[in-house]
Amino acid sequence: MMDVPPNSAMPSTRGLNFFEADPNLSAVLALRAGPGEAERALPVLRELGEIAGTELDELATIADRNPPVLVTHDREGRRVDEIVYHPAYRRMQELGFCRFGFAAMSHRPGVLGWPGTVPHVVKYALSYVFVQAEFGLFCPISMTDSAARVLRLFGPDELRARYLPGLTSTSMETLLQSAQLITERTGGSDVGASECEARPADGYWEIWGEKWFCSNAGADVHLVLARPPGAPRGTRGLGLFLVPKLLPDGSRNRYVIRRLKEKLGSRSMPTGEYEFHGAVGYVVGQLDRGFHQMAEMINVSRLSNGMRAAALMRRALLEAAVHTKGRSAFGRALADLPLVREQLLELVLDAESAISIVLYAAAALDAADGGSEGHQRVVRILTPLIKYAVCRQARSAAGLSMNLRGGNGYIEEWPNARLLRDAYLGSIWEGAENVVALDVARAARKEAAHEALLADLEGRLARATDPVVSEDAAAVLRELASVREGFARFLDAWDDETEARITAWCDRLAAVTCAALLAEEADAEARQGRGYRKAAVARAYRLRRAERRDPLGWRTPPASVLRAILDGAQLDARALAAIS
Ligand SMILES: Cc1cc2nc3c(=O)[nH]c(=O)nc-3n(C[C@H](O)[C@H](O)[C@H](O)COP(=O)(O)OP(=O)(O)OC[C@H]3O[C@@H](n4cnc5c(N)ncnc54)[C@H](O)[C@@H]3O)c2cc1C
Repeated sequence: MMDVPPNSAMPSTRGLNFFEADPNLSAVLALRAGPGEAERALPVLRELGEIAGTELDELATIADRNPPVLVTHDREGRRVDEIVYHPAYRRMQELGFCRFGFAAMSHRPGVLGWPGTVPHVVKYALSYVFVQAEFGLFCPISMTDSAARVLRLFGPDELRARYLPGLTSTSMETLLQSAQLITERTGGSDVGASECEARPADGYWEIWGEKWFCSNAGADVHLVLARPPGAPRGTRGLGLFLVPKLLPDGSRNRYVIRRLKEKLGSRSMPTGEYEFHGAVGYVVGQLDRGFHQMAEMINVSRLSNGMRAAALMRRALLEAAVHTKGRSAFGRALADLPLVREQLLELVLDAESAISIVLYAAAALDAADGGSEGHQRVVRILTPLIKYAVCRQARSAAGLSMNLRGGNGYIEEWPNARLLRDAYLGSIWEGAENVVALDVARAARKEAAHEALLADLEGRLARATDPVVSEDAAAVLRELASVREGFARFLDAWDDETEARITAWCDRLAAVTCAALLAEEADAEARQGRGYRKAAVARAYRLRRAERRDPLGWRTPPASVLRAILDGAQLDARALAAIS
């Protein structure tokens, strides 16, 4: 048997602190959350980064290989429908729900020692580090978090009193997890075609029918869309019902989990099919506003999906950077080869633009929750835009990162295969890609929400003062003006032909939005005397993705500049000459 040499020429990210290895996150968070909140988050980010790069990543690998199992009956033949998890997943639950309190932190003060509730922007930054190691568990966390939000917003008081303490618990003993059941055989996009029925009973409703997908199957609380008798067809006739696993007397509710799905990715977490046989359900909010209220849950979950896609891209970049810097071919580090430099730069642009737009949206959500009408419109359009553009980007970034690891990238013992499998899900659930792109158009046509977004971005760029970055800011302002004008013409002429072009418009709107945010971040970095690294990223992004210059005219940064970008070293303004 041959010994494996100590330096196996197969560099790994295992053991790195995922937060400290990230040259970008803390500055973006400080800009979006304010220095006070960012400083308070710092020790938690460090601890999370340490755990993510060590224990959590190991647990995630094990849980991915050992998916949960549905046990339908006990040994005496009673129906039980219990989900049996691998201990690795249970430990991840403790970390996610209890140690870091992700599902609770927006709802009750004091989680992680915060003086009030943790702002969304901080929650998203913390989640971003966690998801770099584990993607699957974040669905149950997000479902539980958003169910608490829906109950807080729409009530009624009785359901709040009964379920909110459990949904926001940070103890596995008392935690109640949630799931969301919308999709039926008839379709997840055309929700109005749903056939599940809700029949009035004595103080509750009976839910009858089938749901084709339920993630976090086996949850304690289910939010279910169903149609009461006589309600109109379409989404307007749907009510929203809370269906608990256990009835107040401790008995099982009247539904069965038919089977668990065998999935490409997100394998640590169970997704199942449900049959409701007169299950007890309680109305949430207004009976005739069920879909509208569920949309609140879907929207925060869509933003969370954008955050998860951004995290997958950051991990994809980290894997690619560590691998190509530590491995050589033809006598040179892979990272210094021209084509690889070019590909690493593209991964940097993917990853840094993604977290920019996600944290910007999270900060806007904080402001919107505080009552700002302008920010509500910004969030209205950013949510589907991010779900569309960032999730789509994650698929190609995960693929490129796999490619850069070569053969090992395709082997399940390395993280790339899992990243790629997980990345594909973001574009399907919580609204398939086309459906969320059409929602961007709806937000623009019905609420002129794009105007609120463009105006906010213009205001930010107009405040840029660094002389070097101001030139870039001015160029992005011109792009924003051209998008505004083009979008107006496009929306005026809405027909089948324009509908068929909507994804191209979403690509364009996402690109100029990210270009503006990166320029704003570059200005902040330069003004604080921290140099022009972000300016280099912002310029490359603008020229390549917002202005869409001809790739044959691009210039790939020299190895020293690219390494500074990867490692977070300062660059001076002269380095910008190497960027195009
Ligand atoms: C792993 C996993 C977990 C899931 N978990 C849940 C869950 O917990 N709860 C839940 O309710 N659902 C869940 N889903 C379902 C998911 O939300 C749906 O699959 C998704 O919304 C798409 O619905 P569909 O599968 O019925 O496809 P369809 O709605 O049939 O769509 C098929 C294709 O048609 C396109 N399309 C549809 N309408 C239009 C249009 N107007 N214009 C252009 N293109 C269009 C879509 O973009 C898609 O590409 C899960 C799915 C997966 C894969």
